[in-house]
Amino acid sequence: MDVLETAFERITVTDENDDQIITTTTYHKSKGSLSAAMTISGLGSSTNANRMKLPLQKLQNTNSSKPLNAVTKVTLPSQAAQQHRDQNPRASDETSHRRTESLYPQPSAPRQFHLGMFEIGKPLGKGKFGRVYLAKERSSGFICALKVLHKNELQHNKVEKQVRREIEIQSNLAHPNILRLYGHFHDAKRIFLILEFAAKGELYKHLRREQRFPEWKAAQYIAQMAAALKYLHKKHVIHRDIKPENILVGIHGEIKISDFGWSVHAPNNRRQTMCGTLDYLPPEMLKGGSKENYYSEKVDLWSLGVLTYEFLVGEAPFEDTQIMTQRKIARGEYTVPAFVSPEAKDLIKRLLVLDPEKRIPLEDIQQHPWIVKHCVKGERAYMRDSGKMRSSGDRES
Ligand code: AMP
Repeated sequence: MDVLETAFERITVTDENDDQIITTTTYHKSKGSLSAAMTISGLGSSTNANRMKLPLQKLQNTNSSKPLNAVTKVTLPSQAAQQHRDQNPRASDETSHRRTESLYPQPSAPRQFHLGMFEIGKPLGKGKFGRVYLAKERSSGFICALKVLHKNELQHNKVEKQVRREIEIQSNLAHPNILRLYGHFHDAKRIFLILEFAAKGELYKHLRREQRFPEWKAAQYIAQMAAALKYLHKKHVIHRDIKPENILVGIHGEIKISDFGWSVHAPNNRRQTMCGTLDYLPPEMLKGGSKENYYSEKVDLWSLGVLTYEFLVGEAPFEDTQIMTQRKIARGEYTVPAFVSPEAKDLIKRLLVLDPEKRIPLEDIQQHPWIVKHCVKGERAYMRDSGKMRSSGDRES
């Protein structure tokens, strides 16, 4: 049995409702080639070259509390549960999260998956280490996305350990705004990840198509992001690579944080602490400083500020040549166009704070006037999209 298979034998699957500490981990991904990765010290000067070029690395696990000796099997939610979910899209707050969890019953006897159990459909996309296909589990008819990773590529890129770790972590996450990983299996050459299917694809493409989002949509997305991050941080998981490219969109227009670092790279140098897209990088990671800075979940708050800005403006606030982006981030220097509402501007200002400790906490984001104004209880973005629930005060900016 090869190293990878041995490693996968030891993956732990724990109760997804368990709110105990899982680990403190960095998630990240670069859609750019790793060979094109840059260090901050070797920054080039081309405008817009920042995006997707930094290597993405994993932080040291500082708080692992789970044994690595359990089985690897996870069970898909039943088809009935999927249908129920589709008919009853729900909000992304704590209450809805609890309700969603109950839709994933834990069986007494875990099931072992294999490829023959799935009907493979159209390709959904291609990542660094493999392809993603639409798939249907034959016996239940459950629709999912099957991600195929090639073991030799993982080995070649020395990311087997990271993949194992990411599987362990993502298997333990269950939130409506985080893409579910239902289970995995492998054959001699490949690893298959059974993922939740995000029917509306990449958020990045939606943003490029629409150029920028109307305020109501941006606010609803940010509220969902805040809910997901609150959940992750409660589990001591730091995302550290928040950006539109790492978000998928579900059938009802709800967002799903999708990237949990399959294409990771951990070189043994300063870049280890520099991960994510440069545009989204918080100042504490540019400046260096104490380890606490790198490991603090407050890095996600800064990135959320950048995301809010990009949703509303169509480009990131510090977008410039790489050296200028770095300078602007370090100084917290950005301007918000006049078409952005004062409430939205206020939230951006409270997130893009140089001192990590002074950034608005996630709980307060959910109470922020801009979020409250646009997130009417029970209302959904998809309903607004279809014009069913647009309130009179709404304007599309
Ligand atoms: P990745 O390797 O995760 O970057 O996936 C490659 C592409 O496949 C993504 O950019 C998406 O367009 C698509 N994709 C990945 N996972 C899913 C999913 N769960 N549902 C729908 N599309 C997906």
